[in-house]
Amino acid sequence: MFAFLSEILQKNHIDCFAALPLSACRVTKPYLLERAGITSGSAVILAVPYFTPACASPERNLSAYAVGYNYHAFFDALFEELLPLLKERYPEHRFAGFADHSPIAEIEAASRAGLGVIGKNGLLLTERYSSYVFLGELLTDAPLPYILVEPRFCESCGLCQKICPMEKIGTCLSALTQKKGALDEAEIVALRRYGSCWGCDLCQQVCPHTVRAIQSGSIYTPIPYFHENNIPRLNLAILDAMEEDEFQKRAYSWRKRETIRRNLLLLQEKDEKGEHHA
Ligand code: SF4
Ligand code: SF4
Repeated sequence: MFAFLSEILQKNHIDCFAALPLSACRVTKPYLLERAGITSGSAVILAVPYFTPACASPERNLSAYAVGYNYHAFFDALFEELLPLLKERYPEHRFAGFADHSPIAEIEAASRAGLGVIGKNGLLLTERYSSYVFLGELLTDAPLPYILVEPRFCESCGLCQKICPMEKIGTCLSALTQKKGALDEAEIVALRRYGSCWGCDLCQQVCPHTVRAIQSGSIYTPIPYFHENNIPRLNLAILDAMEEDEFQKRAYSWRKRETIRRNLLLLQEKDEKGEHHA
């Protein structure tokens, strides 16, 4: 079964995945397992890379994960292909796919399956793609071959904590860019200081694992979906000209146009005043 699954994943350009027994995973949402009718068996952890050359642009003014299209649609399409094929070939077994709302502690599980180390920035650091991966899982009641290791941690260099602006601005910059409604004066100053209209990648950017992966070129995703219509630098003109169906494919659409529009307007006003981004 694992060879069959590997073949489909590789056909979809996914090359960073591994299985482990479900009993070795920490279950965080048991109701999701019950709903899938899978309480024992295996979890296959998928680390889906998304970093493209556009994400490396020094002009980028939004999180790398928001440069291309939303990963939800990628996982939906993947599971729509994968699950029927598995069910047809192995009718005696159950299968379920998860992305986003996982029933297990996925970073810990990914590390135990040997896919990477757990970073101080709270992310999984893979060898090839650093932390620029989306995690998803395929669960099955079937046993699968696995290698199990103790969770491993990064070298604790502290660079991610040093650069994190949270203490300075009193909130996570990523959360601030996604906050609905009007921002107060201090929030506007913080937004303008860091110049991001959506998200924050600072702790990922400075990580030596990322630096190494960029230097070696291994960081770039082989998945064509993430290379489509990349917009590394968003502005009001691009946003306003974006058709609704195109906008809905973007990660920033979940907060509606008003939120990202407000951020862009605040950044543009700053540029018009001749100030420079920090
Ligand atoms: S996303 Fe940015 S502000 Fe938020 S914790 Fe990471 S580095 Fe800090
Ligand atoms: S920046 Fe350093 S401490 Fe932070 S996750 Fe990377 S290796 Fe770990």
